[in-house]
Amino acid sequence: MANVLEIQNLSKKYPGGVQALQQLTLTVEAGSIYGLLGPNGSGKTTTLGIVLDVLQASQGTYNWFGQSLKKETKRRIGAILETPNFYPYLSASQNLKIIADIKLANHREIDSVLQTVGLFPRRHSAFKGFSLGMKQRLALAAALLGDPEVLVLDEPTNGLDPQGIAEVRGIIQQVAAQGKTIILASHLLDEVQKVCTHMAVLQAGKLKVAGRVDAILAQHDQVIIRTENI
Ligand code: ATP
Repeated sequence: MANVLEIQNLSKKYPGGVQALQQLTLTVEAGSIYGLLGPNGSGKTTTLGIVLDVLQASQGTYNWFGQSLKKETKRRIGAILETPNFYPYLSASQNLKIIADIKLANHREIDSVLQTVGLFPRRHSAFKGFSLGMKQRLALAAALLGDPEVLVLDEPTNGLDPQGIAEVRGIIQQVAAQGKTIILASHLLDEVQKVCTHMAVLQAGKLKVAGRVDAILAQHDQVIIRTENI
C-alpha cells in the first residue's frame, strides 16, 4: 500500500514554552482509517494543524503522497478542523455552492455529497434550523467537495447526541469503503476501536504506540491506551 502521510520526528514548542509534540513519527497507509488517539492536550490538533500547513513545526518533516505539501496536494486532502462558518439563512445546497466555488469543485458534486451525508432531503432547508449532528454532517459534505483522496477530521463527533455520533461514524465508514483514506483525531478509545483500522496513541505530545488497532488491543493492556479518564 502506498503511504498517504509520513510524519518524521515532528516536534512543536509553542511560544510561551509548551512542548506540544516531541519527535512524533508515524505513517498513514492509503485506504486506512487512522485514529489519532489521545486525551485532551496530547497534541492531536497540533499534529493535524502542522500537516495541514496551518501551524509551523519546530522540528521534523512530513510528506503527503510522497512529496511536500503543495497547492495541488492540498486539493487531494479534505479537512474539518473546526465547524466551518456556514451562512445561517442560506440552505444546505446554497452553502455548499459557496464552498464548491472556493474549492473549484463542480456544482454537480453537491447533490452527491449531500446524499453521502444523508442531507439530500434537507438540501433546501436553512442551515440555522439544523441540529448539531446535521451541521457536522454538512461540514463533512463540504470536506468531501472536490473528491479528496484523504479526509482529515478533528473530533468530528464531539458534542453530538448518540444518534448524531452513530450517523457521523457511519458516514466515515461509508466514505472509507469508497476508497478514501481517513485520519481521525479522537479522545475516545471506544470510537477509534469501532471506526478505525489503525491508530497512533499520543500522550503529552509523545507517541506511545502505533499500528493496527486489533494488534495493539491484543498486545497492550487497555489501561495503557485508555484516554478518557486521564
Ligand atoms: P484537545 O482535544 O483538547 O484539542 P489535543 O490532543 O488536540 O487536545 P493540542 O490542542 O494539540 O492537543 O494541544 C497540545 C498542547 O499544546 C496542550 O498542552 C495545549 O495547551 C498546548 N497548546 C495548543 N495550542 C496552543 C497555543 N496556540 N499556544 C500555546 N499552547 C498551545
